[in-house]
Amino acid sequence: MTHERDTATVTGDRSRADVLTRLARLTDPDLDDHTRVVDIRAALDQLSGPALLVDLDGTILDVNDHVGRLGVERGHLRGRALWSTSLWDADNPAATLSPLIEAGVEGRAGQRTIDLGGPAPRPGRVSLTPISDETRSTAALLVELRSLADSRETDALIEATTQALAAAEDIFRAVAEHTSDLVCLHDAAGTFTYVSPSVRRLLDIDADSLIGTHPVDLAHAGTRDALVQAIHDAGRRGSEPTRFRHRLRHRNGAYRWFETAITPILAPDGTVRQLQSSSRDITEQRETEQSLIKQAFHDELTGLPNKALLLDRLSHALAVSERSNQPIGVLFIDLDAFKTINDSLGHHVGDTALSKVAERLTAIVRPGDTLARIGGDEFVMLCAGTDGARGATAVARRILDAFAMPFVLEGREIEIGASIGIATSMGSEDPIRIIDNADTAMYEAKHEGRGRFAIHDEIDQSLALERIDTEEALRRAVENDELRLHYQPELDLDSGRIVGFEALVRWQRPDGRLVPPGEFIPLAEETGIIVEIGRWVIKEACRQASLWRVYRTPEQEPVRIWVNLSARQLGDPDLVPFVERTIEAAGISTDEICLEITESALMDDAHAATEQLDELRRIGISLGIDDFGTGWSQFAYLQRLPLDVLKIDRSFVSGLASDHAAATIVAAIIDLAHALGLIVIAEGVESEDQLAVLRELDCDQALGFLFSKPREPAAFDQALDTN
Ligand code: C2E
Ligand code: MG
Ligand code: MG
Repeated sequence: MTHERDTATVTGDRSRADVLTRLARLTDPDLDDHTRVVDIRAALDQLSGPALLVDLDGTILDVNDHVGRLGVERGHLRGRALWSTSLWDADNPAATLSPLIEAGVEGRAGQRTIDLGGPAPRPGRVSLTPISDETRSTAALLVELRSLADSRETDALIEATTQALAAAEDIFRAVAEHTSDLVCLHDAAGTFTYVSPSVRRLLDIDADSLIGTHPVDLAHAGTRDALVQAIHDAGRRGSEPTRFRHRLRHRNGAYRWFETAITPILAPDGTVRQLQSSSRDITEQRETEQSLIKQAFHDELTGLPNKALLLDRLSHALAVSERSNQPIGVLFIDLDAFKTINDSLGHHVGDTALSKVAERLTAIVRPGDTLARIGGDEFVMLCAGTDGARGATAVARRILDAFAMPFVLEGREIEIGASIGIATSMGSEDPIRIIDNADTAMYEAKHEGRGRFAIHDEIDQSLALERIDTEEALRRAVENDELRLHYQPELDLDSGRIVGFEALVRWQRPDGRLVPPGEFIPLAEETGIIVEIGRWVIKEACRQASLWRVYRTPEQEPVRIWVNLSARQLGDPDLVPFVERTIEAAGISTDEICLEITESALMDDAHAATEQLDELRRIGISLGIDDFGTGWSQFAYLQRLPLDVLKIDRSFVSGLASDHAAATIVAAIIDLAHALGLIVIAEGVESEDQLAVLRELDCDQALGFLFSKPREPAAFDQALDTN
């Protein structure tokens, strides 16, 4: 039914529909003739082009004024057959019009092209619309005429449209020139073709200087992708604006936030001709939003994260911990006797105290950890990452140290103490529960006497507590002079003489217990305390070597002292200078002190180890590999490292006399070592049988309970004297 739409566009949908309804009402047979005539005329006059109403025979009932344009008078038309008028400039108008009328009688609309008459004949179009009465049968026919290709009319239309567009552009510019927003036109790729002068105020840039540049040049790296995407999307979203938030650079280098809407301006064929953008500066609005967010997640007094944010970070840390298998630690810190400060000095002093406490705690927080204030005088620290749970105890210690200094409040020095509870978790727990556990531990700490920390550990709380106690005590062992060195002699298997001693550390606890190294060396290694212990051992061994010099004639080979070295010590950049200094200070020479390292220690950081060992060798220190056979299964490193001695692990020696396989392995090790030019020492020789086999296998030296247990140095004075 395209024809209907065609005529509709001429008059406009609404008014034409009105005309049709009015005409339909006029078919009412009860209507008096006068009313009918007047109303038909009025209805037809409502149409914007020439129109006639005809009955089903094609007789003209009435016409409107516009037919005058076709050079025919109204009075001449009424009562005549449609095809017999001078409206047409066609040979046989009936041939064109009759089929239209027939279709109309059957209720179908239609249209035909026909030459129109009058003073300026030209092609035209005749459209016919049936008018139905209430019974829905056709009562009359509406005939509308339209001349085609009236170039003047088209020109006028184009002219009018152009003017309207120009006016619209003027309006656009007028608006753009005066708006406080940034209004721009862009080509389809986004390049600026017009920039409103407001850009001077917003970004302190001259509008003209931006023409031909692309907004991406002003974009912040963090929002550049959003801008590029928005320009891309705008070209694809029909006339819907694309909205987004992004940052643009001010001339002073700072970035401002903008909320921008980009709308495409489409060509008649639907392609994007231009893009129009309007941007509103929302920097202040965003700052307000951010500060609201900050308020929602931060404590107003101290600016620290509040409980809500802590719980969020904790949940996140727990998820990471579960995946990475690294436990996290949570410290619950509660100030001791804070109520007294509040009550005696007033709340404002209390508030100052809390702010100062927050400052001190903030200085302790490690990067990546979170410090929150979750209540009056309650703070929580979350320690995550690789060192989470263990780091928590170190952090607790530092917090207590930090509280040892008094706080200055209103010019007065005031002691504020803190009690700390620690909880650790592997990630599967509820965040609230972990905080509760830390809280419980904090109460334990308070109960034991303020200014302490206590640990809550679901898995083995007593073990953990013990561990912390040990760690604490071990830290003080060196300064409290609680370490001892015992010595175990090494014998040459050919001569039977003592050629050296292995120095083995012990920890003399204040309660009298002598703790063997197996019980504290691993902890010392884990915590790094080993570096300090190791230095003490080296120093003490050097001192002993100088004391034992008295038993030696100048021609005699020196009795060497073997010191055990940990991987951590190899990581100490000061190791070699320290050894050199210490040897010199003791007045001995570098061939009197030797160092032994286990295979597994070398494995930790083979590259760094090699460098340190080369240096030690360079200054004249002999090096041995300890517990050989228990670490690496491939021996290529033996060739690379500057070694002198290989110590066969006790586990092989113990099976020597009874186990054929053990003997085969030991034989192989000895051969390998000799091939590499190394001296072989067997560890843990307990029986004569073992000794016999070692001799047979050509082992060089041995040490073990068969000869002596490790003892205090004085126990060997006599043996050395007769050595
Ligand atoms: P290690 O270096 O392999 O020392 C040999 C261990 O075997 C010593 O144990 C020694 O007492 C024991 N032993 C020696 N002969 C026999 C024997 O015939 N039978 C038995 N059953 N055991 C024997 P100790 O003194 O308990 O030392 C254990 C480990 O602690 C040492 O193994 C060494 O790895 C480490 N260690 C000792 N002192 C130090 C030190 O100053 N620094 C470092 N980093 N580690 C040390
Ligand atoms: Mg050893
Ligand atoms: Mg050993």
